[in-house]
Amino acid sequence: MSTTPWHDRAAALRIDACAFIDGERVDARSGARFDCLSPVDGRKLAEAARCGGEDVDAAVASARAAFEDRRWAGKAPAERKKILVRFADLMLTNRDELALLETLDMGKPIRYSRSVDVQLAQNCIRWYGEAIDKLYDQVAPTADSSLALITREPVGVVAAIIPWNYPMLMAAWKIGPALAAGNSLILKPSEKAPLSALRLAELALEAGVPAGVFNVLPGFGDEAGRALGLHMDVDCIAFTGSTRTGKQIVQMAGQSNLKRAWTELGGKSANIVCADCPDLDAAVSAAIGSIYFNQGESCNAPSRLFVEASIKDAFLDKALTMIPDFAPGDPLDEATVMGAIVDPIQMKTVLGYIEAGKAEGARLLAGGKAARVESGGLYVEPTLFDGVDASMRIAREEIFGPVLSVLSFTSLDDAVRQANATPYGLAAAVWTADISKAIRTARALRAGTVHVNQYDSDDITVPFGGYKQSGNGRDKSLHAFDKYTELKTTWIQVG
Ligand code: NAD
Repeated sequence: MSTTPWHDRAAALRIDACAFIDGERVDARSGARFDCLSPVDGRKLAEAARCGGEDVDAAVASARAAFEDRRWAGKAPAERKKILVRFADLMLTNRDELALLETLDMGKPIRYSRSVDVQLAQNCIRWYGEAIDKLYDQVAPTADSSLALITREPVGVVAAIIPWNYPMLMAAWKIGPALAAGNSLILKPSEKAPLSALRLAELALEAGVPAGVFNVLPGFGDEAGRALGLHMDVDCIAFTGSTRTGKQIVQMAGQSNLKRAWTELGGKSANIVCADCPDLDAAVSAAIGSIYFNQGESCNAPSRLFVEASIKDAFLDKALTMIPDFAPGDPLDEATVMGAIVDPIQMKTVLGYIEAGKAEGARLLAGGKAARVESGGLYVEPTLFDGVDASMRIAREEIFGPVLSVLSFTSLDDAVRQANATPYGLAAAVWTADISKAIRTARALRAGTVHVNQYDSDDITVPFGGYKQSGNGRDKSLHAFDKYTELKTTWIQVG
């Protein structure tokens, strides 16, 4: 087995995965811990604090105190900006360590942890920091006898619950706007990948975010997560994860104090390639690259590919020549583009869907089984099914693995109808050289993001979120402030 400098660093890494409450590293009140196992090779990385109700109470009390005494909310936006920019700078200074933690914790290739995840996460924190001193409140057009101010105020104590597929980036999408707006935050990372979140809290403190403003509680969903969802003193819950859990979060908000509940949930995104696609190579490359990126563990992965029947054979020929480039490999090797599946449960789920695809009559053209990588860990071959029917499970359910389902169409209206025939509505794409057709199709697709002649463009300036059961909120862009602020009207009598 070859070793790289990343293996040496990984071997030397000592991780203390405590909780982070009120600016201090602390154990769970119960003393309980859980094992953090690396998908890279199965080794135990750390024992993380297993937080429960008492820890949630302590973190909420700390966050509430920080909010009430205005040690953060009361700072001038320009001051918050300085601190958040310093926080982003510290992320860059610690880039290699953050990237390594992310790869070891959830299995993605180190080249992407470093160049994509840390890069986008620090940029997100920086962007919200930079934005906050440029936002003006409003004065309403009222009669001379009064003045009505419309102002944005922080919502208060925010709980953010996030998944394991982009742990640092999903954390940053919450931390950036929530802290820039002046809130106190309690972040519960996934039990499958809690490590980068803890490091972020330490860096934020080092940058000058006051103690109590940013707390992190590692733990399980039905323990720490549920206690946050039901807590009477949490003002807002910002959730990213599965649609199944998202429904529970909304219920918990309703059952408790009607906290604002924002959900960013699953997807089954459709990518429609018409026969007049302007660049077939680009369409194939985007279709393949986007489904296998991050081992297929992306909420917006274009897992349903609709190709117009007349170009399907040409499309598939090109796709099949490209797929071997995505052979899984050791995540700590810089050359690897597809890494390890996060854990045995997810591995079983993905292989189960592959079996379902075969059993329901889809034609397996590539992959279809577990792959062995010398360094250890669990891997799935990049898999492609042709001849998929809309009624099959692989066409209807989110797989969250490197499995592409190809369907063909002869009528674009029919393809759009099928694309929309899902409970999800996160992302979609259409490829055509006809601009009117592109616009009509983009309008007809019921998804929060629609791409035309591309897939997966990304920028912090644009909102990201879902229609239907893909959620009700928007991360990124100035729109994310809607989640973390209340709108206040102040009427003033003018004598
Ligand atoms: P999950 O729903 O199992 O878990 C997400 C988080 O919720 C974890 O921190 C978990 O501990 C917590 N949780 C679980 N049960 C809970 C409960 N009863 N109460 C409170 N918290 C609970 O999802 P996952 O497997 O971690 O992530 C994968 C899912 O996330 C996929 O469906 C994916 O599409 C979605 N996702 C969506 C976006 C988006 O922006 N829309 C981004 C990334 C991932």
